[in-house]
Amino acid sequence: MSTGCTIAVGGFQHETNTFAPHRATFDEFERADSWPALTRGEALFSAMDGLNIPISGFIDAAKTYDHRLYPLLWCSAEPSSFVTSDAYERIVDEFCDLLESADHLDAVYLDLHGAMVVEHFEDGEGEMLRRVREIVGDQIPVIVSLDLHANITDAMVEHASAITIFRTYPHLDMAETGARAYAMLDKILAGDDMIGAMRKIPFLFPLTSQCTDFEPCRSIYESLEAVVAETPGLSSIDFACGFPPADIAECGAALVVYGTDRAVVESTLDKLFQQVLDAEPEFENELLGPGEAVLQAIQLSGKKPVVLADAQDNPGAGGTSDTTGLLEALVDEGAQAAVLAILYDPEIAGQAHRAGEGATLDARLGGKSGFEGADPFHAQFRVEALGDGHFVYTGAMKLNSRAELGPMALLRVIDDHADVRVIVGSTRAQCLDLAIFRHLGVEPTEQKILAVKSTVHFRADFDPIAERTLVVAAPGAHPCRLVDLAYRNLRAGVRLEPMGPEH
Ligand SMILES: [Zn+2]
Repeated sequence: MSTGCTIAVGGFQHETNTFAPHRATFDEFERADSWPALTRGEALFSAMDGLNIPISGFIDAAKTYDHRLYPLLWCSAEPSSFVTSDAYERIVDEFCDLLESADHLDAVYLDLHGAMVVEHFEDGEGEMLRRVREIVGDQIPVIVSLDLHANITDAMVEHASAITIFRTYPHLDMAETGARAYAMLDKILAGDDMIGAMRKIPFLFPLTSQCTDFEPCRSIYESLEAVVAETPGLSSIDFACGFPPADIAECGAALVVYGTDRAVVESTLDKLFQQVLDAEPEFENELLGPGEAVLQAIQLSGKKPVVLADAQDNPGAGGTSDTTGLLEALVDEGAQAAVLAILYDPEIAGQAHRAGEGATLDARLGGKSGFEGADPFHAQFRVEALGDGHFVYTGAMKLNSRAELGPMALLRVIDDHADVRVIVGSTRAQCLDLAIFRHLGVEPTEQKILAVKSTVHFRADFDPIAERTLVVAAPGAHPCRLVDLAYRNLRAGVRLEPMGPEH
């Protein structure tokens, strides 16, 4: 067990959907949203304390063993299209300046996503790690934790001493992954010569097929730790499902294996690669059209709500969070006790706040983010409740994290047949926590239909209260039928979906 080392810690997180309309600017990394704001220096320790974020888990583990932590900076922005060159260079420059100014370092830990695409680099993390390596040299361990949606690249594996990856989707184990990164670093500091190898999976599978509560991902992830436990010379195995809406050469899932024995690392990689290939026909992707989904939800609704996942307009996967296809279907089909969240429209949220509770608005809601084919939903609305967007998440994934979502409003669609309400927000944020509904005075367990702009993360908090969950393919910038995406840069020979055609 190593003690008393100086370890630099920091993080830079973005999941890039290159098919989405909006690019991530510096300002979006700087401000708080459903994640903490950009934090530098000592403030990083209090900002991350007790949260389900990788760096929080790493810090807790490292402090237990009396290491000195040298804080760099941490920031994230809501998933979207490319990170601007300006944002990337400013943030990475600051990282590099801080690293250069450190007197002495024994190790570096970085909390990265693994699916960042920059205007001028396909592989944001690989380039950042290359620059970090240039500063710290080859002798200092650089440990990295990544998101389950990482599109792992050769450059990341080359420049990191070891990588570990979330093993749950919904991501309940983010802090745990940070702690695991510390455990890997500890082995290196104790003298283990860590040998790593990565292999890309030759087919893509959408986020709607990646949930680790269901097969085949459940079994694949369950087998990882068992294989490590029974194989001498092996330190860790990870599997990243990848983030398919990224038009880059190295898009897609990958296995990453570390150990002290190269032959064992390679043979483990062969075995697990075959396990994933064998599971290829088991990946399901059941998507319903919005009208069909709402009709089924009306039929299924009983004592508990039916949850409709507006999977393709999930802002957590780069969706604009303002498409109105599912809202329109709820109203058209005469849904009762239905609430949709969060529809991003700062203009209408502001109007609702100025008009006040009880007021009536004639508004064109949503459809303003430039996503092709998304039109505003024009109706009369009654303002039923207002919120300031400051609340604390209560679900397991983001437990105790603060939301800073700006003005929010609960609007009722005035309609003779439908009983439909919409939670309108001023910040793009995924609807993955029941606290979002309760912030606007809506008790989710008492509704018949809950429509959430989320793909999978909502399941941790919503599945336990749901009669059934249906996944909906309404318009959105995060297409879940991957054969519909116009890839240009993807490496040749990759199957665009399980058992599907090759690119
Ligand atoms: Zn993820």
